[in-house]
Amino acid sequence: MSTADEIARLPEPTAGRFGEFGGQYVAETLMPAIGELEVAWRRARADATFWSEVDALLADYVGRPSRLYHAQRLSADVGAAVYLKREDLNHTGAHKINNCIGQAVLARRMGKRRLIAETGAGQHGVATATVAALFGLPCEIYMGAEDVVRQALNVERMRLLGATVHPVESGTRTLKDAMNEALRDWVTNVGDTFYLIGSVAGPHPYPWMVRDLQSVIGREARAQIHAQAGRLPDACVACVGGGSNAAGLFAPFVADTSVRLVGVEAAGDGVATGRHAATLGAGRVGVLHGSKSYVLTHEDDARMGQIAHAHSISAGLDYPGVGPEHAFWKVSQRATYVSRTDDQALAALERLARTEGILCALETAHAIAALDEVAAIVGKAGIIIVGLSGRGDKDMVTVAQRRSGS
Ligand SMILES: *Cc1c(COP(=O)(O)O)cnc(C)c1O
Repeated sequence: MSTADEIARLPEPTAGRFGEFGGQYVAETLMPAIGELEVAWRRARADATFWSEVDALLADYVGRPSRLYHAQRLSADVGAAVYLKREDLNHTGAHKINNCIGQAVLARRMGKRRLIAETGAGQHGVATATVAALFGLPCEIYMGAEDVVRQALNVERMRLLGATVHPVESGTRTLKDAMNEALRDWVTNVGDTFYLIGSVAGPHPYPWMVRDLQSVIGREARAQIHAQAGRLPDACVACVGGGSNAAGLFAPFVADTSVRLVGVEAAGDGVATGRHAATLGAGRVGVLHGSKSYVLTHEDDARMGQIAHAHSISAGLDYPGVGPEHAFWKVSQRATYVSRTDDQALAALERLARTEGILCALETAHAIAALDEVAAIVGKAGIIIVGLSGRGDKDMVTVAQRRSGS
């Protein structure tokens, strides 16, 4: 089956929404840009030549397909057959490049000459700067001033790749403020600018488009598990920040009702402490960055209802919102969402390192930390696919500090 045919089988939003979630809660001035993007995306999505361009770059440049690796020692330890979908082996070391390649091909088709993006930890900024260099397009990245300091190495990477990094001084000086600033840039420069959003967040059509572009993870995994195990898995497990790697893994399995879908959020210091990023588990329905979904809000003071600060040891899960399709999967009970603390993620990172010789990202480690719970449900003969969203090199300083207790 061609990619365009596979994509056509994925669930589509209705009137820009997944159930009640999603939509386009943006300023009037942004509506023409979003409308133009939606028309271009619908056309590209159904066009085989768009997908052959994307697929060629994913193969030649990113190194796809990524391996689906049967992790035998981890399987024995967990008590179920665990297969790791190795997005850490992609060029740039994580899944984010899949989405950036697709949106850059779309930007070129739309005749846009300038890429902008928001970034939190800097991973999406680096992936965007990478494709901007590959396509020869100027690139400007909005990043909270706080994050610019905390993620100095990624800032240096972006600058080496030729991008301009704008520190954002407003609000909490983190990701949500960077995203607001990028939206403001887009409103001002709609004519020549493409806004490349990094997760399944933002106004329609972004959550849909980013999920389709990341669905290469699940489309490959589905074919690979058939070839390697001769059947569908019993469960798919992935970490959830904005939700793009999880949505990309889950979407091609959504119609297979026998497959459990388990998203793992960051519980930070523990959900009860208030210092966490478990948006689906402990948040409430609200609007953030142009779409209706679950959000984290202040509940106990004069700021009640305002967006709260998220916390996680993994910068990539540290977002107070989540993609609207996950909200839909949660309320329709198609997927289950659990959370794991910083300490549990660290222990899982060590466990994967020692059983399989793989150093995963701290984000990914949250998914590994949920394996015992999922294995208890699917049993010894069960098959679990885990989205191994990224490699751990970027996190080694954080891990070393935690382990030495500083
Ligand atoms: C950014 C990132 C995540 C979280 O983003 P999602 O959109 O939820 O996938 C997870 N893992 C890694 C390695 C990341 O870089």
